[in-house]
Amino acid sequence: MANEMADFLAGLRARYPAETEFHQAVTEVAKSVWPFLEKNPKYRKAKILERIVEPERVVLFRVTWVDRNGEVQINRGYRVQMNSAIGPYKGGLRFHPSVTLGMLKFLAFEQVFKNALTTLPMGGGKGGSDFDPKGKTDEEVMWFCQNFMMELARHIGPDTDVPAGDIGVGGREIGYLFGQYKKLRNEFTGVLTGKGINWSGSRIREEATGYGLLYFVEEMMRTRGNSITGKTVVISGSGNVAQFAAEKAMVLGAKVVTLSDSDGFAYDVRGLDAEKLAFLKDLKNVRRGRIRDFAKHFHWQYFDKQRPWGMKCDVALPCATQNEIGGRDAEKLVRNGCMCVGEGANMPSSLEAVEMFLGHKILFGPAKAANAGGVSVSGLEMSQNSQRMQWSAEEVDKRLRDIMRAIHNQCVRYGQREGFINYVDGANIAGFRKVAEAMLDQGVV
Ligand code: NDP
Repeated sequence: MANEMADFLAGLRARYPAETEFHQAVTEVAKSVWPFLEKNPKYRKAKILERIVEPERVVLFRVTWVDRNGEVQINRGYRVQMNSAIGPYKGGLRFHPSVTLGMLKFLAFEQVFKNALTTLPMGGGKGGSDFDPKGKTDEEVMWFCQNFMMELARHIGPDTDVPAGDIGVGGREIGYLFGQYKKLRNEFTGVLTGKGINWSGSRIREEATGYGLLYFVEEMMRTRGNSITGKTVVISGSGNVAQFAAEKAMVLGAKVVTLSDSDGFAYDVRGLDAEKLAFLKDLKNVRRGRIRDFAKHFHWQYFDKQRPWGMKCDVALPCATQNEIGGRDAEKLVRNGCMCVGEGANMPSSLEAVEMFLGHKILFGPAKAANAGGVSVSGLEMSQNSQRMQWSAEEVDKRLRDIMRAIHNQCVRYGQREGFINYVDGANIAGFRKVAEAMLDQGVV
């Protein structure tokens, strides 16, 4: 069986040699589900794993636009429609210069399992562009979004594929994308999630990934008779997920001592408070400043070009980007007494880091379970749009909490080992099983 898995992974690498992040994501899932496949030969016979790693469709297109100096700009746009066995494709759009097809395939692949865990009927997809919103004027971002949507509109729809935000795509970008889709189609539909509250968005969508992460962390801590209250928390990133993870951690009585961006991180042993968080949100979402400006303003220590994993903490919440915790970083965290890692970002831990966390039996919540709160509330936004209704913040927040608890229960069900819960196996097997059963029911398509 080990040889069969090695052959399967070697085949994947040979077919897509440059897509290293995609290999990494598939390797992690294959390791978890292979023993499960061995016990359930029907999945092997139907070649579910072989099918699930191939996108149902990939759209790659040119996006041309004219910048503020009148110069023609060219970017690449993508949408990876990975799997629609349990519902319409669903997953965010990422605008970042590092975006490649391989990166989006890894994200779309992860999204399939994550969406299956949410208990809601959503397939998996992901898209984006190598466009960099940083340093662009609002008008340039709007021109880009409009031209991106000119092509994407042909491939999406409320019952086909419903994109949302991700790195570089927040409320501003979703607004421009939605406006263009509506103009092209002459339809006001729930084709995107993360919409503004007064144009049929859902309450708590902005907060959902960060809040959901903390609800999941609380569930993990509870399995050891513990809680996040009074704990020291290290957070990376300072965007959407990081901001609301920090907010909920503070509300639950934890102390958030770091924040970061791609230039470096800020640290203060006294931690964040409501005034500093409000400043951060304005700095990052409105003034589009840097974390070094935050550090300077509040006299926090600033570490240029470094990540925060060497700082002493009880709980680590990586909320920036993939592979931001390497094997050595993981070692530092474990050595410094970190008891829990909750992944707010997608695949922030390298395979070596994951091995380190599991080997030391610390509470490790993998992204596809721990950060599923965002897409869950996106799913709730789709339901509200279909009903032409808007639920209260309390209602959405309660449903989010229930969903995160349900995801945690599935991880425990499939990941319970002798005296330890392996959340990686739990999330992978539970997500795989749900999609695999639907694929079996729907025949060889
Ligand atoms: P934002 O664009 O709002 O924020 C991203 C943050 O991460 C910024 O602080 C950014 O710093 C930092 N960052 C981005 N790229 C890098 C990099 N290469 N190295 C170091 N830091 C980096 O994105 P989100 O908060 O929405 O997303 C963060 C993570 O969470 C991503 O992995 C995303 O896929 C995941 N996620 C997001 C969800 C959502 O609902 N938004 C849902 C589930 C997962 P800088 O400003 O310098 O670029």
